[in-house]
Amino acid sequence: MGTYKRGRPPAEANRRAGRRREVRITNDLKNGIKGLFQNHEFYLCYQPILEVKSNKITAVEALVRWKHPELGMINPEEFISIAEKSLLIAPLGEWIMEEACRQMAAFHQGGWKVAVSVNISAVQLQQKDFSVRISHILKRYHLEPEFLVLEMTENALMEYNEIVDNNLRSLTMLGITMAIDDFGTGYNSFICLQNGLFDNIKIDKNFILHMSFSANRAIIASMIHLGHELNMKITAEGVEKEEHYNYLKGQGCDYIQGYYIGKPLPAEELWEDRKAGRIENRDCFAEEAIGNRYHR
Ligand code: C2E
Ligand code: CA
Ligand code: CA
Repeated sequence: MGTYKRGRPPAEANRRAGRRREVRITNDLKNGIKGLFQNHEFYLCYQPILEVKSNKITAVEALVRWKHPELGMINPEEFISIAEKSLLIAPLGEWIMEEACRQMAAFHQGGWKVAVSVNISAVQLQQKDFSVRISHILKRYHLEPEFLVLEMTENALMEYNEIVDNNLRSLTMLGITMAIDDFGTGYNSFICLQNGLFDNIKIDKNFILHMSFSANRAIIASMIHLGHELNMKITAEGVEKEEHYNYLKGQGCDYIQGYYIGKPLPAEELWEDRKAGRIENRDCFAEEAIGNRYHR
């Protein structure tokens, strides 16, 4: 028999434990989000994105990490959704944007003209001054707008009101690159394409991870074709295997992201790898060479 109290089934106990964890994470975020930035509990990792045509890493995606002193590494999907519910994603998202732009400026100053992709949540898109804040950050770091890529999911665009529309139009006018993330998983995949404001489609990793199903291969090929018909670039994420890379290349996919190219790494480690020629060198993309070096 389990150790749960009499009369309380395990599912109920699990729910309570989950609820306690959520309250703990919400409180920690509420009580001192600024302190968490200063203590370096939050940091960003950067995952390389390969441009197929040039065979070069032309972009990286910034992915936030939270190393909690007691709870350990917390999955971003868990704390981002909690931060969204409590609206604390606004200060967190602003810190992520600032940090990603600061790092992009450092990459550029070091001679690596790489684009940086940043994930944007629905709450941020609903802020009236969102595009203005971004333009200030770009100016502060002297960045060319097209090197900033903003990724948003179809679900984040679901509440498509005037504020969202104004933000998207202003960001496009600024020359920022706009991408639809997790394409094919939301409720309004095609509606997102109607406004012509997006430059990139990121095919959701689940289509790629399960490419052994012929239906997924057909869907991937159609998404690439559709994107190109609309003058958009296509990124495939979740590319773990050479055969998947070869298939995507054969279908004309523009960018590849996934463990086959490299896992997300802190900026310093990515920089070291690049200097040592461990990325941008096809030979090292062999599965055995990647091994455990890319550990996150
Ligand atoms: P996402 O934007 O779709 O990010 C891609 C996720 O796929 C990342 O997980 C990445 O580590 C993982 N991934 C990359 N390549 C592969 C692969 O080859 N195979 C597999 N199985 N997975 C791969 P991560 O870092 O855990 O992030 C999860 C989600 O959390 C992100 O999904 C995004 O929705 C959210 N997130 C992460 N960072 C941020 C952020 O800075 N802001 C916001 N708003 N959301 C974020
Ligand atoms: Ca993303
Ligand atoms: Ca994605």
